[in-house]
Amino acid sequence: MSEPKKLPQLQAVKGMNDILPPDSARWEWLEAKMRSVLQRYGYQNVRTPIVEPTALFVRGIGEVTDIVEKEMYAFEDRADKHGQAEHLALRPEMTAGVVRAMIEHSFLRDSGRRLYYFGPMFRREKPQKGRYRQFHQMGVEALGFAGPDVDAEVILMGSRLLRELGLKDGEHVSLELNCLGEAAERRAHREALIAHLEAHKDLLDEDSQRRLYTNPLRVLDTKNPALQEMANAAPKLLDFLGEASLAHFNGVRAILDAAGVAYRINPRLVRGLDYYNLTVFEWVTDKLGSQGTVCGGGRYDGLIEQLGGKATPAVGFGMGMERMLLLLEEVGVAPAAPTPHAYAIVPSANGLAQVMVALEALRGAGISVILHPGQSSMKSQFKKADASGAAFALIFGEDEVARGEVAVKPLRQGMQPEGAAQYTRSISSAADWAAELLNA
Ligand code: ATP
Ligand code: MG
Repeated sequence: MSEPKKLPQLQAVKGMNDILPPDSARWEWLEAKMRSVLQRYGYQNVRTPIVEPTALFVRGIGEVTDIVEKEMYAFEDRADKHGQAEHLALRPEMTAGVVRAMIEHSFLRDSGRRLYYFGPMFRREKPQKGRYRQFHQMGVEALGFAGPDVDAEVILMGSRLLRELGLKDGEHVSLELNCLGEAAERRAHREALIAHLEAHKDLLDEDSQRRLYTNPLRVLDTKNPALQEMANAAPKLLDFLGEASLAHFNGVRAILDAAGVAYRINPRLVRGLDYYNLTVFEWVTDKLGSQGTVCGGGRYDGLIEQLGGKATPAVGFGMGMERMLLLLEEVGVAPAAPTPHAYAIVPSANGLAQVMVALEALRGAGISVILHPGQSSMKSQFKKADASGAAFALIFGEDEVARGEVAVKPLRQGMQPEGAAQYTRSISSAADWAAELLNA
């Protein structure tokens, strides 16, 4: 007889992570904190598909970008009955999808929209700490607003978010700001930049050589240490800005200055996607090595028209959730783990149905209570009750249940409403004494 064949253990795809308890509680905490801030600014939730036509990203993000050139999970779907197969991609970012949805549903016809999203994005990068192939972003998009006020609004919102999470400006994170001007200004700068890059052609790495004529601005975004000096000495786009662009930039700055939000102007900040104009910004940290950008965004006035909509100004940002959590951990901001109000100890299966009805009444009154599953020894049930972090043990002993009672035992110091180590309550009126547990 042959041995049964052992199948290889299946594993998650490289660079794609499971998020499990207790870590998932940190995610929920972070999301709740973020939602609370977003709602105070009137931003509304939007959810779009994870899979979109590949062409959306090629047209939206730009052909000569890292994302489209190397990082996208793109595939051909199965052919339909006419032999036609769609070219699809897992979304590497969400702005293009949000814009597509806004155009498709005529959402920008009457007024502007302030939107936010949470969700997974996919990029085929080399996995490392703070860089994954499936990662998550929280992002905002404000569509239909042209003025510097809304640029400043999203920056103030990002700044508040970081602050309310316990991150200190200047110590844990800092804001970098730049202005990319408009197309004509970038063209004039581009000529000067190409001349500068040509003069240093022998220095350029393979990526930069290739981008010299297709996307020279992106050469300045290089992370290659050997190119830093050359990139620093390159002609600055800021020096090519006209009056309108400068007025916009100064408008944003004036609001940030008045609100006391500190920033550093970084003339080399260009961002990795083609669709930006005017204001661009990033929050960076020195606590996460080369994965130092926790949030990046800017204005993208041309994108909506480029994707087939009516020309509409827009501004937004994307924040990396994994990097935020890593940073919070790094600087010692830890949310308290959620603990239940009560833990139900049930030593016997007699009267179990009655017990579970009582627990339902408690939950209906807002109490979180964990049922000890099965009937193990009292000792082991008490151990589990302690480990759960619950404030009370509810002991449904056989004798108590027969009398229609439950013993309530406070598990923490200073929580004994009747001064007793333990007291009894009626099972059938659980809803009446639930408040006692809630307010303890
Ligand atoms: P980087 O320069 O680090 O590659 P990026 O410019 O490609 O970042 P954006 O496209 O602006 O990043 O995305 C917004 C945010 O999403 C980033 O600031 C970062 O926090 C996060 N992010 C981007 N790519 C990844 C990834 N592969 N893994 C984890 N987080 C990421
Ligand atoms: Mg990137």
